[in-house]
Amino acid sequence: MSVLVIADHDLGTLSPATARVVHAASQLGPIDLLVLGQDAANVATEAAKLAGVAKVLVAQGPGTSDADSQVIEKLAAGYLYVIQSAGSAGRDRMPGVAAKLDLMPVTDVVEILGPNRFVRPIYAGNALQTVTDNQPRHVLTLRASAFRAAPAGPAAPIEVLDSALDSVVKLLRSDRTQSDTADLATAQIVIGGGVALGSAENYQLLESLAKKLGAAVGATRAAVDAGYAPNDWQIGQTGKIIAPDLYIAIGISGALQHLAGIQGAKKIVAINTDAEAPLVKLADLALIGDLFEIIPQLTAELDRLGVSR
Ligand SMILES: Cc1cc2nc3c(=O)[nH]c(=O)nc-3n(C[C@H](O)[C@H](O)[C@H](O)COP(=O)(O)OP(=O)(O)OC[C@H]3O[C@@H](n4cnc5c(N)ncnc54)[C@H](O)[C@@H]3O)c2cc1C
Repeated sequence: MSVLVIADHDLGTLSPATARVVHAASQLGPIDLLVLGQDAANVATEAAKLAGVAKVLVAQGPGTSDADSQVIEKLAAGYLYVIQSAGSAGRDRMPGVAAKLDLMPVTDVVEILGPNRFVRPIYAGNALQTVTDNQPRHVLTLRASAFRAAPAGPAAPIEVLDSALDSVVKLLRSDRTQSDTADLATAQIVIGGGVALGSAENYQLLESLAKKLGAAVGATRAAVDAGYAPNDWQIGQTGKIIAPDLYIAIGISGALQHLAGIQGAKKIVAINTDAEAPLVKLADLALIGDLFEIIPQLTAELDRLGVSR
């Protein structure tokens, strides 16, 4: 009885979140890493190289949530822990898996204190709760950004499961957001923009700065609601939770719902015209001034210094 981790992957590439979940879960026991869905075979070789992985299990299938859940539920009986990152797939799938196994899931874990003690945020991240989970088995989702990534290890064996998967769900089409900046959930530097940017075009100011720094771009809900930024850029209580080394908040007031998404940021820089804005007061460093003057100057200075990732 050990640990079953469900891999996150997309377009034939393993998500960086999986390496972080593997590293965190390795303190609970040897890990079998399950790769589900389309492109599963391609991802398995990459997954096998993570330290802590004892075996990679591959279940090639239609990649629909009901088919994937069937595989997890069948396999779960053999494991003490079933774990996935708290990304969109894990959030969607794991409560259902837990219900089928008659277990209560422990979600959004940010620290593992022992075999059945886990820390998770509550009240929109304003408090941390330590949960003692006395159930016989544990279904967890982990906030990947709270953990370090597993290093490379010796290649683990890969086992292809004989899974004739039925699905009542038929995938007709998927629409993708194209982005050439880093992934928001796992980026080490994130640049967030607020409604003060004033238009979708002006977000290009942030994107060109982000490309130089190897950063991801995010936004406030006010900016998303105004149509300036796509929905999947939203950071906060009802958006993505981030924990970068550096968060640069540009034209963002710092409403509680936004702060709920950035509490894991190690350093915060705020750029704002208002010295009294809550995010300015919270920041490690604040530049008080007009973003439309400061950002071009910053970008030009990075150009002059030859900074480019
Ligand atoms: C149930 C609920 C859930 C929510 N969930 C989220 C969430 O997940 N994420 C989220 O972000 N919000 C969320 N919100 C919305 C939240 O309450 C705020 O309204 C929002 O975060 C404000 O966004 P903002 O900072 O862009 O805008 P504002 O609060 O309007 O702030 C704009 C800032 O830009 C500064 N500024 C203006 N012009 C310039 C300039 N030229 N240069 C520099 N600075 C300038 C201003 O001084 C101000 O500080 C939620 C709200 C509710 C009710």
